[in-house]
Amino acid sequence: MQKYSPINIFLKTFSVISQMTSGRIWMLDCFLNTVVGVKVEKITTRRLWLLEEIFKRRLHDLIHSQLIGTNGTHIQTVIGLEEACDGCEKCSNIAKKCIEYGPLRFSTLQTMTYSKNYKKLHVTDKLFEDIAEYCISKSKNKEECFKELDKTILSAISCDKLAIWISETRVIPDEEMRDHMHMPREVIDTILRKWNVKSIKLNILHYTNESECRIEWLQYDYFTRVRLKDPYWETKQSDLKFNHVEVSLSYSLDCVKGLGNLPGETEPPAGYDNFIPNIRRLFPTDQILMELTHWYFVPKIDIEKKMSTILKVVTMEIHKKLSLDIKFFVESGIVKMLNEETNRVELLGVASGYVHQEKRLHCFKKSSPFNGNHGPEVFLDNRWIGRRFQMRNTVNQFNFNLDVYIKEKELEEKFDKELLQEYPNSFVGHFFA
Ligand SMILES: [Zn+2]
Ligand SMILES: [Zn+2]
Repeated sequence: MQKYSPINIFLKTFSVISQMTSGRIWMLDCFLNTVVGVKVEKITTRRLWLLEEIFKRRLHDLIHSQLIGTNGTHIQTVIGLEEACDGCEKCSNIAKKCIEYGPLRFSTLQTMTYSKNYKKLHVTDKLFEDIAEYCISKSKNKEECFKELDKTILSAISCDKLAIWISETRVIPDEEMRDHMHMPREVIDTILRKWNVKSIKLNILHYTNESECRIEWLQYDYFTRVRLKDPYWETKQSDLKFNHVEVSLSYSLDCVKGLGNLPGETEPPAGYDNFIPNIRRLFPTDQILMELTHWYFVPKIDIEKKMSTILKVVTMEIHKKLSLDIKFFVESGIVKMLNEETNRVELLGVASGYVHQEKRLHCFKKSSPFNGNHGPEVFLDNRWIGRRFQMRNTVNQFNFNLDVYIKEKELEEKFDKELLQEYPNSFVGHFFA
């Protein structure tokens, strides 16, 4: 069980406010003063960078002085704080004490010369670029550059899980395009190898504060450029191996679009259908776990069509020895369709290719309406009921579980018995069986 202090919850809600007034700062100051003495173990802040400069610093300092304390005796996890300072001495001192920390700025990485095993470290695509450019700046040729890379990433650090935050909307200065950008492959591989990473989490984010790409490293041919949306057959197979790769798409827009639509259905064809094959080449694993919590930008096509598209996309490459689990949270509306001729509601079926499994799933999940400019805005806890639909290829040892979840409340309110009886083989019928 993770311990959530009230501060954590407070800050989570608090950090989305980008316009702070002095009155609010004063209120926060008072609030933090009243909680002195609380042993805070975990601090998660989200999108602190949206705050005004002066308030951002003030909040950063308050978190250090009031919540963490000078010696940081109790702190175990700090996530997102460097967004406020872009890496500082206070933060790097805390990084040393935590078992989970990040995303690391380059200056913090440089202080990590000690020996330590982290449970989890968070890094960003921007950090990869910063490392590449630092190594280039310190060297005269490719060989020296890679020696510098070897000195920059130390094997005294190890981490069980590496969370990689990848931005979907980065730009090359003076260029229009906003999309996934290239990452320096050798930097990623060196980190994975030297830190002895056992499993990976990919956080795909539509929107971050590190929106400008560094372009210096692209002038040199030292590093191999990789991108998750590039044609997978061009991505070299890594010889590393990971227990599993988790993919969070809650804050993604483009990858979600690419998974839920066939290449011909998006304008322009985005290429994210290469996502899974590329993951397997960059982070070889037998187990991929994905979460699709929203379908913003994806037309509200019926469940039958959607499931069939997902199946086509994930089997684009014939996978050998892979277990793929996708948690798919849907609106109940997409399981039915209004027949315009009869003006009657009909229930849709299960896409062919899947076999329903007798497995009852449920979970509590925050439901977050997705706004194109800002990402998920509102967090509401909901109980979701799920059913498993499976596609299995025993010859290739490929197993795909699509766990579809519908809000319990919507199941209770929006389906009557007669309709369900009229369509005994409907998709949603499995939720009532
Ligand atoms: Zn700091
Ligand atoms: Zn993406």
